[in-house]
Amino acid sequence: MGSFITPDVNFGRQIEQASQSAASMCWTCGSCDFECPVNIATNRLRPQKIVRMANLGLLEDLLHMPEIWYCLTCRRCMNVCPNTVSPSTLIAFVRNKTLFKGIVSTDTLRRYHTLFTKFQRVRWHAVNHCFNEEFENLTDQMWHDWLEQPVRPLTSTITKKKSIPIDKDIWATMVSSRSLACFTCGECSSACPIICERSVFDPRVLFRMINLGMVDELMRSPSIWLCIDCGRCTNSCSQLVDGRQLLNQVKELATLWGVLDIDFNLRVEHANQAIYKYFLNEIDQLFGL
Ligand code: SF4
Ligand code: SF4
Ligand code: SF4
Repeated sequence: MGSFITPDVNFGRQIEQASQSAASMCWTCGSCDFECPVNIATNRLRPQKIVRMANLGLLEDLLHMPEIWYCLTCRRCMNVCPNTVSPSTLIAFVRNKTLFKGIVSTDTLRRYHTLFTKFQRVRWHAVNHCFNEEFENLTDQMWHDWLEQPVRPLTSTITKKKSIPIDKDIWATMVSSRSLACFTCGECSSACPIICERSVFDPRVLFRMINLGMVDELMRSPSIWLCIDCGRCTNSCSQLVDGRQLLNQVKELATLWGVLDIDFNLRVEHANQAIYKYFLNEIDQLFGL
């Protein structure tokens, strides 16, 4: 007969207070599960479950769950919660505890950050692939090649499109007029959870390109498709530049101007399912959880 879970609600309250996650406000609506980009791609990270476990006082179990390392720290779960619960804050708290208790070493953490950075390369190469052809399958060889293959800056990758019908008036109204206040301080880059190598993804670089009028280069870049729509750049900008909306407008115009094949979004969705699966498996191996 299997062992039963023994809830400790008082300990759950202590976890809530220490993590400042407002976990007890959760009414298990599941909004966070539907918003989480990792869960959307893989069904393997449910923020609601982590909050529930914390409320039951199951800290020891949480410390050994690989899910806490699947998280991208994007905070979309927190932003969508109708009851101001912050699963992302709770996850950060549990991660810190694993380090404090010596469950995870600093060397493992360093290798995790390296993997995380290289995974953004994989995402870039996957979008690049989807620009030009269907995403059939991800092989081990592709995964390892994409992890290790650096991205050259401003690589023009949409091979089929010789010229893009850019409407400068629409561009000015929808995009560039909204970014002029940027003074390249880099607060957005510091806040962005997926910031990595500049040639792969850096919001400040993309906003600078907008201000320099590099429309063609932006439209041909896989980087704009790496944004996970979390809005942390927007919230961090003292100049009130809405970075999240800017990138969404660029993507919208790329679609409107026919830069992309009609099934591009489906291809990316398919690719995400494959590459996130590999990413999570690498995390499982790294942490041995
Ligand atoms: S912070 Fe982002 S990746 Fe992490 S659980 Fe929340 S929605 Fe998912
Ligand atoms: S935080 Fe704002 S002002 Fe600073 S680089 Fe980003 S967009 Fe520009
Ligand atoms: S919305 Fe901003 S902070 Fe979030 S991923 Fe996109 S660029 Fe980065």
